[in-house]
This record gives sequence, structure tokens and C-alpha cells, in this order.
Amino acid sequence: MGFVGFDLDMTLIDSRPAIMAAFAELARETGTEIDLAAVDSRLGIKLEDEVAYWFPAAEQAAAATGYRRHYVRLAAEHTSALPGAQEALAAVRAAGERVVIITAKHPVSVEPSLRAAGLTADEVVTHVHGPEKAAVLRRFAATAYVGDSPPDMAAAVAAGTRAVGVSTGSFSERELYEAGAGVVLGSLTGFPSWYRALATA
Ligand SMILES: [Mg+2]
Repeated sequence: MGFVGFDLDMTLIDSRPAIMAAFAELARETGTEIDLAAVDSRLGIKLEDEVAYWFPAAEQAAAATGYRRHYVRLAAEHTSALPGAQEALAAVRAAGERVVIITAKHPVSVEPSLRAAGLTADEVVTHVHGPEKAAVLRRFAATAYVGDSPPDMAAAVAAGTRAVGVSTGSFSERELYEAGAGVVLGSLTGFPSWYRALATA
């Protein structure tokens, strides 16, 4: 039985409001200026890499810990499933495949996010980004990887699997194609028909 890989943030869940609120709280608490539009433009990278834009090296670990404390609290109220997410996961299971969520998020942030969105995974691999995701996709021999960012598409290409872009995050259809997407969907509402066509091809 095969696996279909999904990114989490801005692919399955709208985590943008919770991420922005957590960064705003972190900025307030630490008296550090954080440009939320700049954070938004990079959504999908590891938290450690994002805080490195705003804090000196000696303060980054504490900043990441502080952010996660806010995020875990805010996620419950500010996270929702993106359109078509439930149906996409249901389509995979209806075909006898399983869902592996492969995300840069830390484990403590994944659980409340999934619970708030009402989504479940068969496997979850956390705290991986870019080429690290490719290694995970190879390990699961994934049928496809569905993601919203150019590094997600590059990871799928590197793993030799189908790169399925969704333009529900911070990146355009064009950026996703340029990064190697084989198909770009406007949202996951288009996923079940694309996926079922794959099975009958
Ligand atoms: Mg993402």
C-alpha cells in the first residue's frame, strides 16, 4: 500500500493567522521589530531559520521556544482546514493509500494544529524542510507530494515523485511550476479528481 505525502502549513491547514499572531506576540514580548509581511513571504521554512532573520544568534533558541509557547496556545483558535483538505485525505484513503504529512513544523505545534483543523494523518514526519523532505519522500516511496512552496516542489522532484502544487500559500502558480511542479491546483478541492485520474491512467 502506497503513501501520498502532504505538506501541512498552507497546504492542508490555514495556519497563517496563528503564525502571524504568534510572531506578533513574540515581537511584543521581546521588544523586537518583526516585519510580518516578510515572515509571510517565506511561510514554510523552519522556525529556527525564520527567527534567524530577527534575532542575534545567542537569542534565537529562546525566541523559538517563546514563539512555540504562543503558537500552541493560539493554534486552537486560529487554525482551520483549507478548502478540500478533508476530501483530499479521504480520496487517498478511499484508493487504499495512506497519508503521510511531512512538515517543517515542530511536533508540539503539529498536534494542536491538526486537532483544530479536524484532520488526521496515518504518519507524520516533523521538522524537515527542502532536501530533508526529499529523503522522507524516498523512504515512504510516496506516490506524490502535495505542497504550497517551491522547496516542496523541488523536494518532490529530487525524490523522483510527482510534484503537486497548491497555490493556497504565499507562492503563485508560476513560482510552483518554475520549481518543478507537474501540476498546480488552485486549492485541494481539485485534488480528488486529479488523483483519481492518476489511478486510472
Ligand atoms: Mg507549506
